[in-house]
Amino acid sequence: MKKLKRVVIKIGSAVLSENGELSKERILNIAEMVSKFRKADIEVILVSSGAVSAGYTKVPLDKRVLANRQALASIGQSYLMSIYQKKFDRFNLNIAQILLIQADFDSRKRTENAQHTVDVLLANGVVPIINENDSVATEELAFGDNDQLSAHSTYYFGAELLIILSDIDGYYDKNPRVYSDAKIRPTVETIEDYELIQEVSPNNEFATGGIVTKLKSAKFLMDRDRAMFLSSGFNLKSVENFVLGGEYRSGTLFGKL
Ligand code: ADP
Repeated sequence: MKKLKRVVIKIGSAVLSENGELSKERILNIAEMVSKFRKADIEVILVSSGAVSAGYTKVPLDKRVLANRQALASIGQSYLMSIYQKKFDRFNLNIAQILLIQADFDSRKRTENAQHTVDVLLANGVVPIINENDSVATEELAFGDNDQLSAHSTYYFGAELLIILSDIDGYYDKNPRVYSDAKIRPTVETIEDYELIQEVSPNNEFATGGIVTKLKSAKFLMDRDRAMFLSSGFNLKSVENFVLGGEYRSGTLFGKL
């Protein structure tokens, strides 16, 4: 495996919340891992979900109403960032918030602007934390899930690898929540069309994507010579071993590094 220079880490909503609260411990663990990566000269961009669920812990609005979800996103985004700030402070790392929507990647000028911002942040040791701008995005302008936002961020912001931290430890040959004999696939080199039209299967009330959006993201990256690693956000050892030691223990690697 070649030496990685820049990676994007996407953190799913299930990883960020526990029993209806933000999981500060998991955010701390992620901060520690980012600090290790930085010490190994690997630049890290985070894509973080969790704003709506964080907002809900403060003001429990009815999530079925779009305007309420958008309000929850704006309440939760600042709360979420305040927790990131506290945990990253422990490792003397500064963070920066970037809110994007799909349309930002449609305009070359806007993409370039965002690229320059990201480059300056990383050159100065700051960790950019990206999320979809859910409080204003309308359906036509939004990705609607952070898997695809993170895949675009990986490609356009010059990273070699997207790491998806989910509540599942890899990609299985069938849905492991339904089939107890499902087997994890350590590597995936091609994604067949039928895999992309499976039923949407997010695992919790705040998740939006399920496995299909992760596969679409993997395909987007593999088509562009980038790789994606799907792994558990509850135990970061396998990601750390993989990124820092080039050692594969669990998780699924899509494409080649
Ligand atoms: P996140 O919030 O991390 O994005 P999601 O709940 O959206 O997570 O997606 C992960 C979920 O996808 C898993 O917890 C699992 O329930 C479901 N899933 C369906 N089919 C598969 C599969 N073949 N392999 C792994 N996970 C699958």
